[in-house]
Amino acid sequence: MNAPETGRPAGRLEQLEFDNSFAALPGEFYTRLAPLGLPHPYLVAASTDVAALLGIDPGEFQRPEFCEIFAGNRLPPGSDALAAVYSGHQFGIWAGQLGDGRAHLLGGLRNAGGHWEIQLKGAGRTPYSRGADGRAVLRSSIREFLCSEAMAGLGIPTTRALSIVGADLPVRRESIETAAVVARVAPSFIRFGSFEHWSSRDRKAELRQLADYVIDTFRPQCREAANPYAALLADVAHRTGELMAHWMAVGFMHGVMNTDNMSILGLTLDYGPFGFMEAFDAGHICNHSDTHGRYTFRNQPHVAQWNLYRLADALLPLIGKPTLAQGAVDEHFGPAFEARFEQLMCAKLGFRAALDDDEAFIGETFGFLQQHRPDFTQFFRALSKLPATVDPEKQAKTDAPLRDMFVDRAACDAWLANWRARLAQTPWEDDARQAVMLAANPKYVLRNWLAEVAIRKAQDKDFSEIERLLACLRRPCDEQSEFEQYAALPPDWANGLEVSCSS
Ligand code: AMP
Ligand code: MG
Repeated sequence: MNAPETGRPAGRLEQLEFDNSFAALPGEFYTRLAPLGLPHPYLVAASTDVAALLGIDPGEFQRPEFCEIFAGNRLPPGSDALAAVYSGHQFGIWAGQLGDGRAHLLGGLRNAGGHWEIQLKGAGRTPYSRGADGRAVLRSSIREFLCSEAMAGLGIPTTRALSIVGADLPVRRESIETAAVVARVAPSFIRFGSFEHWSSRDRKAELRQLADYVIDTFRPQCREAANPYAALLADVAHRTGELMAHWMAVGFMHGVMNTDNMSILGLTLDYGPFGFMEAFDAGHICNHSDTHGRYTFRNQPHVAQWNLYRLADALLPLIGKPTLAQGAVDEHFGPAFEARFEQLMCAKLGFRAALDDDEAFIGETFGFLQQHRPDFTQFFRALSKLPATVDPEKQAKTDAPLRDMFVDRAACDAWLANWRARLAQTPWEDDARQAVMLAANPKYVLRNWLAEVAIRKAQDKDFSEIERLLACLRRPCDEQSEFEQYAALPPDWANGLEVSCSS
């Protein structure tokens, strides 16, 4: 007899109990096929946190079977591997059919923690590869693995990453690199584009099947609504609004917010040329391939809303009334974004309770950051440690950790005076306020230069830096003296670092 689900001890790979709910949909939604796998695979990294979600004992990482399974060389018992079809808008333009061109769903499983799908990214071509090689390079696999887990550490909704398996197989990008496979984990990888696919083909029956699957599996409460499909859209709009608030508050830029990269569950999905804001610039473009700056930091909420309208268009045949579809987006996206953003910013700024004028203060703060361009993460972290009141004689010394980030010290002093005046309106003991601020303002984010160091070492077969970064980034708000250097500004060599869609 199986042990009860709760508290079930982590087990062996062979004990994963797949239920494969997505594969139970009709065959139009995917192509069943086994991954191609990697020759002579080796383990690059694995996450004990994600193993725990799945019920895999971390001792399993060292078994050759772990590498074989998560390289895609051998299917675990019960797996029903497939690549899913979807379409989408890329950079604002309808791109037609896309699909899992280099991702294989191994299957889904259900345990006490919920429903989890395991997907291998980079394990070979599929019918949706459109002439590309079906591979992912080690470089982009490390970025996806680390950022998935870093976002989870920050408390931001995201797909997770169990492992990276590498191989010496050459892969051609701008130069020759080597192949890797990331095992990604999420309740579902269904995208806005999964719905656009059926709607663009006038296939209402499939559209309904997909929406019913999402509702019944993940959002059963929508079934109770007068219009379940409008309720689903409202739920997606709400969650996407909250997701944008999280991204904006932590300075995360996704880089490729195409509708095929937008999760129907409101998760951060498809890590490519993402970035974390360093010297603050709301117009920053983190993706070198985004020549027109569609996906700048400041545009992200607008783009998310535009993408939601594309989802609304796609769901319209099910929802029925255009006004209902539009209302589902408009009444949920903006309010959810604003409420969550205000809450996160109040915590970042140490406000005990929100006041009517805070929106203006927050706007002024972003204007101030834009003008003086301090490092976004370091600014809020240093602010967290300043006292609410300060003796004017000692102000320069007390505030030095923050002031020293500015060339224009007077501008910094003026902003700090406004901040302190605002703090005084909702008094709070320094200890309590600072604890909240330190928990809202991470010390460690996955700066591009950190990922780059880990990548360069890994390309020389030293994977230790990935492990260290993973350990650090799972507790991004804790002081971790052994990782102090990971909070530093980018070194000079990193100035010219560029990330693009090449992955
Ligand atoms: P992305 O820009 O990574 O979101 O990818 C957009 C589309 O291109 C998706 O359908 C991917 O599966 C596909 N794709 C990207 N890179 C590759 C590749 N190397 N091989 C096959 N398909 C790919
Ligand atoms: Mg994608």
